[in-house]
Amino acid sequence: IMAAAAAGAVVEVYSDLQRAAGAAGRLGELLEARSAITVPDNPIALPHPLKGRFAFENVSFFYPSKPAIAALQEISFVVEPGQTVALVGPSGAGKSTILQLLMRFFDPQSGRVLLDDVDISQTDPVELRQHLAIVPQDTVIFADTVRENIRYGRIDADDAAVEAAAMAAMADGFIKDLPGGYESWLGERGVRLSGGQRQRLAIARAILRDAPILLLDEATSALDAEAERTVQGALEHLMQGRTSLVIAHRLSTVLKADRILVMDEGRLIASGTHAELLASNPLYARLAKLQFDLEKTEPPETGPEETG
Ligand code: ADP
Ligand code: MG
Repeated sequence: IMAAAAAGAVVEVYSDLQRAAGAAGRLGELLEARSAITVPDNPIALPHPLKGRFAFENVSFFYPSKPAIAALQEISFVVEPGQTVALVGPSGAGKSTILQLLMRFFDPQSGRVLLDDVDISQTDPVELRQHLAIVPQDTVIFADTVRENIRYGRIDADDAAVEAAAMAAMADGFIKDLPGGYESWLGERGVRLSGGQRQRLAIARAILRDAPILLLDEATSALDAEAERTVQGALEHLMQGRTSLVIAHRLSTVLKADRILVMDEGRLIASGTHAELLASNPLYARLAKLQFDLEKTEPPETGPEETG
């Protein structure tokens, strides 16, 4: 029985890794991640129910395969239960690494990552990940039906719960339009979904998972304007009542965030609201102009947005 339970745990960790890793071709990275953490003999149980507060305490980290470069340098921040915090920074700044450490694919070489005041390096990663839902940049689609692809979010969910999650993720409409509806086959020989459709399936999985903590790697490049609006609506539904950490690419996300953390070269260089950072942080102002197309949507010299 113990062997079977252990095998089950490995499978679950592996599936989580596979989901979080995004592209299926990164097997080397997955294997590296699998061996990068040590499961404690006597793990500390996380509180039930979880408040959903998490914190980085002076965290420094380098990837084992890239020891010369610190991916994170002395990062400290706290996200209180129910808050939405947005991470912003140029490519390579360390944003995705923050999510990887929270998922405990790696443990930091120094400093601590805390969830409800428990050092997550002392927890069982399978238990830890039950409290986390992640919507990655690239959604992994399995060779299976639409229904089973959504159920992946919580494997004991019944069909009604799967369909309710699809509805909340605004995926129900396109699913019903597929020739086989929820039984349509996805994957290599199946229906090919658009980027926006795949992302809504990932959101449906996260809704089904119903975890107190949501980690979100926003991606907008794959979406046209209409898909972007529906995905945005689905995400807002998902974020309600959860503690969310969002790698933000959308102006609407940073405007709604309780706080924005600005990262550059592995360091946390500033934190504040959109208006504060626009006024005080040149890197943020430059990123905002590039990423959010600020000139078109919100000239900095005008006051707060008046449209609701
Ligand atoms: P961001 O998400 O802000 O673009 P990342 O967190 O992905 O940045 O990357 C931070 C740094 O860590 C970069 O220098 C990147 O090259 C490196 N890095 C990211 N993932 C890995 C990995 N799996 N192995 C080795 N180095 C990595
Ligand atoms: Mg990234």
